[in-house]
This record gives sequence, C-alpha cells and structure tokens, in this order.
Amino acid sequence: MSKLKIAELFYSIQGEGRYMGVPSVFLRTFGCNFKCAGFGLPKGELSSEVEDIAIQHSRTPYKKYEELPLVSTGCDSYASWDPRFKDLSPMLTTDAIAERICEIIPFNEWREEHLVITGGEPLLGWQRAYPDLLNHPKMAGLKEITFETNGTQKLTPEFKDYLVQWAQNPPFASREVTFSVSAKLSCSGEERHEAIRPDVVCEYQEAGYTYLKFVVATEEDAEEAIETADIYRAEGFTGPVYLMPVGGVESVYTLNNRRVAELAMNNGLRYSDRLQVPLFKNEWGT
Ligand code: SF4
Repeated sequence: MSKLKIAELFYSIQGEGRYMGVPSVFLRTFGCNFKCAGFGLPKGELSSEVEDIAIQHSRTPYKKYEELPLVSTGCDSYASWDPRFKDLSPMLTTDAIAERICEIIPFNEWREEHLVITGGEPLLGWQRAYPDLLNHPKMAGLKEITFETNGTQKLTPEFKDYLVQWAQNPPFASREVTFSVSAKLSCSGEERHEAIRPDVVCEYQEAGYTYLKFVVATEEDAEEAIETADIYRAEGFTGPVYLMPVGGVESVYTLNNRRVAELAMNNGLRYSDRLQVPLFKNEWGT
C-alpha cells in the first residue's frame, strides 16, 4: 500500500480559482521545490520571518500544525515543505487517508465535496501514490479533483496514462481533473527560468482542465503576468488566466484585493479571491 507524507488534511471551502466557494477536502502533501521567500516584500528582498519560528520550534517544539504562527511575508504554507517542520507531517497510508477523509466530510461519504491535492508541490514524488488513493473504495463517490501546483513538475508517464485512461473508463469517467497552476512571477523571489515552464503546463492540458493563476500585488506584477501568460499561449496553452491578490494575512490582502480585481477586469482576465483570508483569517486548517 502506498504512503504519503501529509502536512494537513482538512475540510473547508475552496477560497481560490475555479472552485471558489465549493466545499472541499484539502490534502496538503509535504515538500516543495521552491521557497517563494519574496512574497509580500519589495522586489529583490527575501523574507526571513520563518527563521524565528524555526528557532522557536527547535527549542520548544510546536506539537501540531495549528499552533504554528502565520507569516505575512514569504510562502504562507512554509511548514508544508521546510524540513525544519517535517516532524509535524506524518507519513500516512492511502488507506488511513481515505478513512480520515470519510470521517471529516458531512454524511461520511462523498457528495458535493471536491478534493484539492495541494502542497507544498503535490506533483513532486507523490504522483506514484495517487492512483492507490483515488482508486480506494472510500473515494468512489468523488467527482472533482484539483491539483494545486506551481507548474514545474512533469507528470510521470504512468500517472499521465492513469489520468487519461481514467477519464475514458467507467466508473471514473464522470470524474473531472483540474490543474490549478500558480506559476511564480518575479515577486515570488524564484528564478524565472525555473518557475515559468510552459512545456510542463501545456502537457497537463492532455490530462485535465488547466488554468493559470498568478499572485500579484502591483500593476508591474500584473503586466508581468500578462506577458507571461502570452508566453504560455505561444506554446499552446488554451485555458483561462486568473489574477489573485498576494496576502496570506488580512492586512496585506485587503491592501490589494480590490486593485487586483480592477487590474483583472481592465485586462480581460479572471479574478480569483482568497476567500480563506476574509472568512477564516487564513488559519491553518482552512
Ligand atoms: S510553490 Fe507554493 S508551496 Fe512552494 S514555496 Fe511557493 S508558494 Fe510555497
């Protein structure tokens, strides 16, 4: 039986993108190939907020994820990939994950709920474990799945075949797979040649509905998002493009959400909110 290292598993409302407002189970896998330390800071600066938290954790360990402080700069899900917090993410069998999911959803079976497999970066090595999980009898009623990815990890041939065949064969033919690709712009602090991979994202389109979602704070970011979307389109990307405000905490989010909505409207793009921030203050488990 396959295992997955799980940073979080919780039930909430999807706050972003295509399924905004849909009740969803979030399966947050551990590990990421990026750090995104530039979010929320002027260009060229990198966040060190998590350093103090890591020092604190090494002295007096936080016992569970929900006790960790939120950050206002850098990646807001830092504990899902930073090795200094890996002790908070258990390795679970796909059996245990499927059981746990059925415990946390209403009616203890899949009805309207959607599954979000997120991270970290969920398309790193864990692709090998997803078929075991998604074929599990307790997942039989699941209809819609989103992979929230940074769009840099190719699908393995095995996993791609699985998704493609799956889309054509009962009983899974009625399932819909979505790739929500949050490609990282320069405000993330990541190197552009590593973060912008149209070749990878165009291949996702063969396995599911795929869209781009750019996190932006300023007009300059929005311009970069539009130029970058054109690069993806030139390589064959055909899906929608969303702009989403930066801000893992409310003070940052409310500074730029309306402006980002206007930038999206003015450029004929979609706006994605981050409903988890105004609704739940982006607490862990939301
Ligand atoms: S890709 Fe996502 S999870 Fe990874 S560091 Fe960046 S924001 Fe965090």
